[in-house]
Amino acid sequence: MSFPIQGSLVTPAEARVDLSAIRHNVAVLRRHAPAVEMMVAVKADGYGHGLVPCARAALEAGASRLGTAYIQEALDLRAAGVTAPILSWIITPREPLDDAVAAAIDLSAGAPWLVDDIAASARRAERMARVHLKIDTGISRGGATAKAWPALIDRALAAQAEGLIEIAGLWSHLACADIPGHPSIGRQLAAFDEGLAVAEKAGVAGSNVLRHIANSAATVTLPEAHYDMVRPGIAVYGLSPIPELGDFGLRPAMTLSARIAMVKRVAAGTGVSYGHLYTTERETTLAVVPLGYADGVMRGATNRAEVLAAGRRRTVAGRVCMDQFMIDMGDDQVSEGDEVVLFGPGTSGEPTAQEWADSLGTITHEIVTRIGSRVPRVYR
Ligand SMILES: *Cc1c(COP(=O)(O)O)cnc(C)c1O
Repeated sequence: MSFPIQGSLVTPAEARVDLSAIRHNVAVLRRHAPAVEMMVAVKADGYGHGLVPCARAALEAGASRLGTAYIQEALDLRAAGVTAPILSWIITPREPLDDAVAAAIDLSAGAPWLVDDIAASARRAERMARVHLKIDTGISRGGATAKAWPALIDRALAAQAEGLIEIAGLWSHLACADIPGHPSIGRQLAAFDEGLAVAEKAGVAGSNVLRHIANSAATVTLPEAHYDMVRPGIAVYGLSPIPELGDFGLRPAMTLSARIAMVKRVAAGTGVSYGHLYTTERETTLAVVPLGYADGVMRGATNRAEVLAAGRRRTVAGRVCMDQFMIDMGDDQVSEGDEVVLFGPGTSGEPTAQEWADSLGTITHEIVTRIGSRVPRVYR
């Protein structure tokens, strides 16, 4: 869990989160999907941006629901006073589902045993549980296969007939929505339609049954995948779901920065950091930046990723350590306490999370979600 900081506490590093950017991004996504519900994915601590503040900002800006992976994340939202509908979609055997049912959290089920567990909790709680039945249409992750789908539907209908659960949704997840034109997209949508038809034929009915399959990429590029609700995540935080197609007018919400902890003049030929993977070419000024791989600055950034310091881009000099890394400032003026920006919206010359992702061969989801819990998230 991150901890929000207000006011002027000085820390070595911070992740500033611009909640107005989150609201802007939700409004952008709303324009792409004006006629359907929007469930914003706030799993993994709001993609590293802070669970509760991001959830509140998304709801203020027009999201109608929230989505989490773990039940505990949904319970944390309830504990903070968030009353909007929440769906949790990763559930293992013997979890305390009673708490989730009591807190009115919608639960995903992709197998009959889970329907049974949820129904048992509902019986104990004397409260109807809301269940979204999940079909695997081709990602081969959660959800019932097409073959197992009819049995899942039957089990859910039986529990519904007993008054224990309400089938509140039918849903799935796309494997390649971020690869425009990928042949699996059409196949998955066809399989989803098929699964919906099977459910309807079996007797799942009603306008309160939400059909949903669209992540961020599908929200902005596949209107035919919107059905009754879209489920964007990464785009809400202002990071492009399909970088090759541009930024879609989204604004990155997070700026990761640190304050230089040490400045020193060193001679030419000085080895820097573990393994001496960087050696100074001439007499120069080194600066120590107090963020490391424990904070999500991955070791792969060694001699590779860029930061903004004293008005210029600098490459990480030598190995990223657990808590710090160095940069070579040349002869530029710099002092302890000066700010170094690792990434931000890119509007002041700093790198973006997209540039960090590109230089590390990953996606922005991994860059922002990995930022460690000792880096305070700051909302000003
Ligand atoms: C994370 C997640 C999303 C959001 O995905 P993005 O690519 O970040 O938009 C939607 N649905 C499910 C099931 C997810 O796990």
